[in-house]
Amino acid sequence: MLLNTYNRFDVEFVKGENATLWDKEGNEYIDFTSGIGVVSVGHGNIRLSNAICDQARHIIHISNLYRIPPQEKLAEILVEKSKIKGGVFFCNSGAEANETALKIARKYGEINGEVKRYKVITLENSFHGRTISTLKATGQPKFHQYFGPFPDGFVYAKNIKDIYDKIDEKTVAVMIELIQGEGGVNPFDKEEVQELINELKKRDILLIVDEVQTGIYRTGEFLASNLYEITPDIVTLAKGLGGGVPIGAVITSLVDVLKPGDHGSTFGGNYLSTRAAIEVIKILDEYYKSGMLKETIEYFENKLLEIEKEFSNLFDNVTGYGLMRALKAKNSKIRDEVVKKAFEKRVLVLKAGSDKVRFLPPLTITKEEIDEGFDRLKAAVNNIEFEGA
Ligand SMILES: *Cc1c(COP(=O)(O)O)cnc(C)c1O
Repeated sequence: MLLNTYNRFDVEFVKGENATLWDKEGNEYIDFTSGIGVVSVGHGNIRLSNAICDQARHIIHISNLYRIPPQEKLAEILVEKSKIKGGVFFCNSGAEANETALKIARKYGEINGEVKRYKVITLENSFHGRTISTLKATGQPKFHQYFGPFPDGFVYAKNIKDIYDKIDEKTVAVMIELIQGEGGVNPFDKEEVQELINELKKRDILLIVDEVQTGIYRTGEFLASNLYEITPDIVTLAKGLGGGVPIGAVITSLVDVLKPGDHGSTFGGNYLSTRAAIEVIKILDEYYKSGMLKETIEYFENKLLEIEKEFSNLFDNVTGYGLMRALKAKNSKIRDEVVKKAFEKRVLVLKAGSDKVRFLPPLTITKEEIDEGFDRLKAAVNNIEFEGA
């Protein structure tokens, strides 16, 4: 049996094609979740599966004791596309990428300056992972209920402007999402973020941007940092990077902080996952350059705005960028109903925050799939009785 860590929908998917899924009984679903922003190039992608199969026939895994050419190539691609002049560390998940970022920041604070600096400021409503320290980094009290004692040194700010008030002589880094994902698809103001990074640079405080959800074209640009026109000291990636093959990455300009023995990962950056990620980026790069991604984003956005207008008794607004979007419901009860009824009409959507319906479709979703998904969503929403805000 499985441990009871998820309230699962009782459905068994057996086949997928781009943003369309089929269950065991042959029912067809439209997938607006892409496995929580993971299946960025869609289900059953031929180019990705060919790359994975080809790699598996040769070498799946060696170890980081030896050179791994696709890992080196992927690192070059990430450095070039992120515009962060530096290096990359590979791991297997978002939480691990954030752990790595925290270790780099902690060591940086230990070896630079007179006093040892170790405090990391994070934001309320954030989400940074499920390990003991990334749980503590997550600025939501409900995540700190059990599992203590936690590592020291995390300080929470209410919003970007409040960060300045939380800085003291022990502060070494600030870690933020540019668009909070789990917290409710809440984007921060571009100018405020640009001001923040300038101020932090003056004070030799590092900016870590958690792009585990926003990275790899999710917002319409390669990184949300590119959209915000900032160059953070450290960026973490995971979800969409491997198209479903587990991989995490940390890109940083701080190439001299970690030395052999300071950090490592058995699986991190192996032949299979890095080969997959190279193919994912290749596919999405073409999609971006051809203008298709932009077109898809606009099409999806218009559909969301349409539904928001048509059902203004249920929804307040649309938030997010690119294909990381949410419909804000009038209350959490309505939101929960929408997600449940959508599933009954066979369109998969996610929850975020307290009252948001979240959309993270595959970036390669077609117009036909978008049309079909929204037709079903409308049918689902039509069945909901308005219970008052
Ligand atoms: C999903 C997520 C994580 C955690 O990633 P895992 O791969 O589940 O460890 C961390 N940060 C953000 C912003 C996320 O969306």
